[in-house]
Amino acid sequence: MRVHLTTLGCPKNQVDSELMLGMLSAAGFPVAERAEDAECVIVNTCAFIDRAREESVNTILELARLKDGGRCRSLIVTGCLTQRYGKEILAELPEVDAILGTSELDRIVELVRQAAGRHDWATSAPPGYLYDATTPRFLMSRVPYAYVKIAEGCDMGCTFCAIPQFRGRHRSRPLADIVAEVEALARRGIREAVLVSQDTLAWGKDRRGEGDIGDLLLALSDTAMPWIRPMYLHPAHVNDRLIEKLARARIVPYLDMPVQHADDGLLRAMRRAVTARRMKNVVAAFRAAIPDLTLRTTVLVGFPGETEAAFQALLDFVEEVRFERLGVFTYSPEEKTPALGMPGEVPREVAEERAAIVQDCQDRIAFERVKSLYGTVQQVLVDGPSEDPAFRWEGRLAGQAPEIDGVVYLRGRGIRPGRFARVRVTEVEGYELVGEASP
Ligand code: SF4
Repeated sequence: MRVHLTTLGCPKNQVDSELMLGMLSAAGFPVAERAEDAECVIVNTCAFIDRAREESVNTILELARLKDGGRCRSLIVTGCLTQRYGKEILAELPEVDAILGTSELDRIVELVRQAAGRHDWATSAPPGYLYDATTPRFLMSRVPYAYVKIAEGCDMGCTFCAIPQFRGRHRSRPLADIVAEVEALARRGIREAVLVSQDTLAWGKDRRGEGDIGDLLLALSDTAMPWIRPMYLHPAHVNDRLIEKLARARIVPYLDMPVQHADDGLLRAMRRAVTARRMKNVVAAFRAAIPDLTLRTTVLVGFPGETEAAFQALLDFVEEVRFERLGVFTYSPEEKTPALGMPGEVPREVAEERAAIVQDCQDRIAFERVKSLYGTVQQVLVDGPSEDPAFRWEGRLAGQAPEIDGVVYLRGRGIRPGRFARVRVTEVEGYELVGEASP
């Protein structure tokens, strides 16, 4: 029986998908490139916010059509949507043959074997699964980077966020196990390890005697992995000792630190455990400690109680801090979260208008910043064939995280996929660059 898996959602889900395919492949199930060629189709879903849930349900219904006269004999749904709404999925989507929650990942082989039986393996078990370096992993794309999940779950309790409901409490993988996985990925030709979890800076707090995230990054600095990129840093965890360790660690000069907002009243209502002034100081300290640092952040607009004045505080903050990269989301009311029902609801169209204003402001800042790269010689990791037919290859600078920060389109001789190349930046167009091979 050939299996095909469609991944939705965040890089943490991508890791889960590669583990499920790794276990299935090790159990003898061939992996089909296309869903049409598979007898068993799996959808690894996302349930983070309303739009993500919509996309998950639409994808399930779309793939379910493959059962009408196609090869597909069973449709399995996994991931956050099943962990959160398992019973509803089975009740409302008769096309689905079986579901598996985020905490039962290692039962995927058993489930595929019995898929025809309409099994419900989701709602019973609370989130608890954590993989290790011995778990077979099927790298789904031929790119030189891989996501490494260093922990699962979160204890921060931001009032707008439902993730802890389906990913559980924070639990860190052992340091030696993460080092072993990164070494193994380097031996498989991976050149960049992107460290992900819900709350990366909390790594180690639940593992007595293993140190903190700074110690993990210093340990990973001794591996053969050329690029190490930590993502999802919560500013509330930052202190001088951590900054000192991050500055000593051999990580790419890139940090992803969601600030969410900059109005102190809203930050309290969001339970972000940090103030705007503190975040400005953290940014300044990181920039002082790590040369050529690229800072990415995420902000949330339309949270209940966001007045014009509060929104202006956010805009002023973005103008002043001048992040290199920024993503903006509109608030999504989530079941069983403290923010649901808070007073001061912001109409959706107002929230979307504010998101557009933030994005315009950020684009202007980012385009000004990126201009300084013109004519410089940069190291690029060549990801592979270019999506733009005008170029053969594309890659990324250390300041560009995969899939979210744009690419460098590459020209010239001697450029090879999966390798580093030295290029001169010859064109700068918004978030995208053109680089010419340079000796
Ligand atoms: S840090 Fe906050 S937003 Fe992020 S996963 Fe945890 S609770 Fe959700």
